[in-house]
Amino acid sequence: MDFFLLPLAVLSFVLGSLIGSFLNVVIYRLPAGISVVWPRSRCPHCGQVLSPIELVPIVSWVIQGGRCRNCKAPISVRYPAVEALTAVLFTVAALLRPVFPDLLFIWAFIALLVALSFIDIDTKTLPNSLNFAGIVLGLLGALLLGYPQAFPQALDGGLMGAGLIALFAGFGGLLYNRFKDGPREGPFGLHLVHLAAMVGAWGGMWGTVGGVWLGGLGIVVGLFNASLNARSGKVFALHDGLTLGLAALAPLLAWVLGLSPLESLRGMLVSAGGMALAGMLYWWLRNPSDKVEPETENPGGYVTVMGYGDVVLAGFLGVWLGFTSLMVAVFIAVLAGAIIGSVLRRRGGDNQIPFGPYLAIGGLIAFFYGKALVQWYLGYLGLA
Ligand SMILES: [Zn+2]
Repeated sequence: MDFFLLPLAVLSFVLGSLIGSFLNVVIYRLPAGISVVWPRSRCPHCGQVLSPIELVPIVSWVIQGGRCRNCKAPISVRYPAVEALTAVLFTVAALLRPVFPDLLFIWAFIALLVALSFIDIDTKTLPNSLNFAGIVLGLLGALLLGYPQAFPQALDGGLMGAGLIALFAGFGGLLYNRFKDGPREGPFGLHLVHLAAMVGAWGGMWGTVGGVWLGGLGIVVGLFNASLNARSGKVFALHDGLTLGLAALAPLLAWVLGLSPLESLRGMLVSAGGMALAGMLYWWLRNPSDKVEPETENPGGYVTVMGYGDVVLAGFLGVWLGFTSLMVAVFIAVLAGAIIGSVLRRRGGDNQIPFGPYLAIGGLIAFFYGKALVQWYLGYLGLA
């Protein structure tokens, strides 16, 4: 064991608990539309501004017996729990990869995922600001350091990751609604994502033709359709059954004709993911707030358009993990969701956990062990 690992572990734990304390503020304030840096923290019960001694992570809560020092109102155990969780994750990350500046990136990755998970549990939404911050940070690391992924893998992973979840939702919705057309949203809605998937799948099946990668053409066509909608004030959209049906047909046809079925699938995912992320970015820029409004107060509001929080989170994870490890993350998320979900259902009540936290857990595990798990699985199948 390296000589400096112990002090690094201690430092990581202290730093993690302090960041966790800040994340508690983010988790509470971001969906409420309050600034995360000002004003200072108060007791939610009596309004007393918290003194520095009451802000020591974990320790303050334990010493005060889980109660406010002023009014003795109970303070949720979740505050020290978030601090302890962040501290432990920061420490584990430091021991697994005691390398700078890589570790700073991993700590940011962990902090974003902890905040996103608890906000999703509280509000069933994933704030665009945190999701897109993760995408930008991952792409910056790729561009400047080649870490956590080389840039082409980061871009590919982000687009395909978003596309994967967007198309799960698209095909799932189509089957669930017995091939009825989905609701039309203009100028930028789910129809454009499905259109892009179709174009990308049909373009991609030719592989690389004349140096032009046709799989990404779906993004161009989708953006053109969106600008047409915006300029005319109408919504031009092909039926979901048509676009998604033809999208699914392309890789099969490519396989039969001896073309590139894998490139067809890749074109489908890249184009769908690109349009999904562009659409979410569009709606977010039109209403750049993470405030969660009750739907009754906000009928037809922007917040409810393209409910693609999980899609952007998958894009964020794809940038950091690359596509192969992202698929491992999604697999772990579905598995964890099935197991934990059934336990919660058996215990009764309405405390269902949304998909975001499961994706975050899968993402953290796959970030460190994704490639090893794929190797192990291929070996298990006798393929490696
Ligand atoms: Zn109080």
